[in-house]
Amino acid sequence: MIAAKIRRRIVVRGTVQGVGFRPFVYRQAIELSITGFVRNDSSGVVIEAEGTSSAVEELCQRVAAEPPPLAIVSGVDVAAIDPIGDDAFEIIATAPGGAPRVPVSVDTPPCASCLEEMDDPANRRYRYPFINCTDCGPRYTIVVAVPYDRPSTTMARFVMCSQCAAEYHDPGDRRFHAQPNACPECGPALTWADPDGARRDEGSAALDAAVRALREGRILGVKGVGGYHLATDATDEHSVAELRRRKARDDKPFAVMVADLSAASALCELNVAAMASLISIRRPIVIAPRRGPTSLATGVAPGLDEVGVFLPYSPIHHLLARGVGRPLVMTSGNLSDEPIAHDDEDAITRLGALVDGFLLHNRPIHIRCDDSVGRARRDGIQLLRRSRGYAPEPLPLPLDASRPILAVGAELKSTVAVATRSHVVPSHHIGDLEHLATYRSFIQAVDHLCRLYGVEPEVVAHDLHPEYLSTKFAVDLDLDAVAVQHHHAHVASCLVEHQRTDPVIGVAFDGLGYGPDGTMWGGEFLLADLHGFERLGHLAPVVMPGGTAAIREPWRMAVSWGLQSDVAPVFDDGRLAAVISLVEAGRGPMTTSVGRLFDALAALIGLRSTVSHEAQAAVALEAAARHVPRDRAPVYPVRVAGDASVRVLDPRQLIAAAVSDRRAGAAIDIVAAGIHEGIGRATADLAWTLATERGMDTVALSGGVFQNARLSEIVTSRLQALGLTVLAHARIPPNDGGISLGQAAIAAARG
Ligand code: ZN
Ligand code: ZN
Ligand code: FE
Repeated sequence: MIAAKIRRRIVVRGTVQGVGFRPFVYRQAIELSITGFVRNDSSGVVIEAEGTSSAVEELCQRVAAEPPPLAIVSGVDVAAIDPIGDDAFEIIATAPGGAPRVPVSVDTPPCASCLEEMDDPANRRYRYPFINCTDCGPRYTIVVAVPYDRPSTTMARFVMCSQCAAEYHDPGDRRFHAQPNACPECGPALTWADPDGARRDEGSAALDAAVRALREGRILGVKGVGGYHLATDATDEHSVAELRRRKARDDKPFAVMVADLSAASALCELNVAAMASLISIRRPIVIAPRRGPTSLATGVAPGLDEVGVFLPYSPIHHLLARGVGRPLVMTSGNLSDEPIAHDDEDAITRLGALVDGFLLHNRPIHIRCDDSVGRARRDGIQLLRRSRGYAPEPLPLPLDASRPILAVGAELKSTVAVATRSHVVPSHHIGDLEHLATYRSFIQAVDHLCRLYGVEPEVVAHDLHPEYLSTKFAVDLDLDAVAVQHHHAHVASCLVEHQRTDPVIGVAFDGLGYGPDGTMWGGEFLLADLHGFERLGHLAPVVMPGGTAAIREPWRMAVSWGLQSDVAPVFDDGRLAAVISLVEAGRGPMTTSVGRLFDALAALIGLRSTVSHEAQAAVALEAAARHVPRDRAPVYPVRVAGDASVRVLDPRQLIAAAVSDRRAGAAIDIVAAGIHEGIGRATADLAWTLATERGMDTVALSGGVFQNARLSEIVTSRLQALGLTVLAHARIPPNDGGISLGQAAIAAARG
């Protein structure tokens, strides 16, 4: 007897387009003797499957539980429909038009099968730097429009040869509908060029020339996936110093690419979480404690006991890393503070003077995407920059957005985000908006994200700061504008990460953010949910003498806090007297920033009195404390003042004690540890008091200061010991890179 056939309509939602989902379904259907079709539509992938009930059930099961590696299935709906008796299973091409609401996947490193082929001298893609398949390859950075099909990518200009076309059209092939499919015959190729862009060699000769130049200590511009890197031998002291000089880069550390995990372990101490992250398809730069003496030049991360490493994330990087056989500095291809170069002409103009040669290729990068950066923690990595490998992955919102929202972020470490219905999509890292080139890049990011997701925003969320370029951009749009307080957005980003909508005590510590009272906030205790907040406490306010000059010159903050604390500020700077009188006259913006307090302390105990990049002094303070066990640290006292309506954290006794210990000859690492202990415990205790008074059981920690692992650990462990739940950041940066996400959620909550 022939088993009766059933037919089901299966809708698969999630990241299911551009990840080989249709070919995967096709193969399963053939195997299970199922007829019908599969196609993409605006809701995801739609399958109509007809066959025996056990076969159709098996298909549903496989679709949900064993999807292709790059797919993220967020839901599967199955509905019974009448059998129609079709006699084959087919993949139906994407219909043009319609509302594209389904994401394209992230850029992905070569899969094991592609790497194997690339290493096989008998394979036609032997050492081919653009090898890819449905399981791997570029995605976000090459897609120009949706739906994600070859003509809407930067691969459109390459016409597949007959062999590639055969693979592309063969449902049984690993490259069936792999949009960037290519080979040396028909696909993109490498070029070795002079600093002025004059072409020297093509193809594998270009690769060989680049490898040779790197081995000789040269500095190269290398075009990768989301932009250009500046590359040089990381073990060559002279080359690294020269790169720093040419790039006009202060002592900010360089990231290092190594060939594999064992090369990474030779440079730094990696826990399981850090290793998992390094080899994951996201391939972020992972910052981890560096080992004693290594082969790395000291100029890679001067004065730091951590180093950022990553593994090759494209075939080009694999070939370079193996060819050179030494760790390579791979730093973003830009002059200090400008956006990373991704357009060829622009790269040659801007980077020509910085390099000895270029390794170029002719696959255009449509949208720039910097490397992501995470820091290894005991229990995983904390993302500090969420970009390549993560963007444009959507994140669920804990509540629905009734109207499409654009959120434009803050100003530093800028990102933007769009939200529709149940999800929010944060963009790649854009950078510091004070530069015109970055501002242009910001506008491109807004356009690209809206186009990709088919979002026409009706609401725009922005920071409260009237002078941010992002704010000015937002209010000029003809949309409903929602102004969001900076630290409320920080706390909201943490709530989104943890899918929470109920009120919590939010502790937001950062550099600076505009407060509704016109002062610069940055040490805030908020009772907050996604709708609103109440300020329950803050750090004591002090003058920022010279305004933003105090960011680059922490000694100014040291004068301000020193005078408050009866500590004589001793700095060898001709402007000291003038700054003292500014502080005494109370002239300058007032700030409650904990970031600025850490700056002041670093300067007062003699670590750093000036910095070349934001948070450098605070990072030095954390690094100084790193090797002091917590039970050996003094606990400098912090008082809580203010009244029951607003508590004020008063660190003057801590400052006086730390400076007096230091001046009496105490070791700088012990004093630094004591500062962390004092501020950390006082922060936890005040958060606990406020939570108890308000009947809250959860504390959210956000803001750039919580990139400080030691401080986070002190606050978290104490709050947990007091029985509270702590929400901290892992997948969303605690710094201003997370602001757009928080703004979007708040705008969604306000309808
Ligand atoms: Zn592959
Ligand atoms: Zn080909
Ligand atoms: Fe901030």
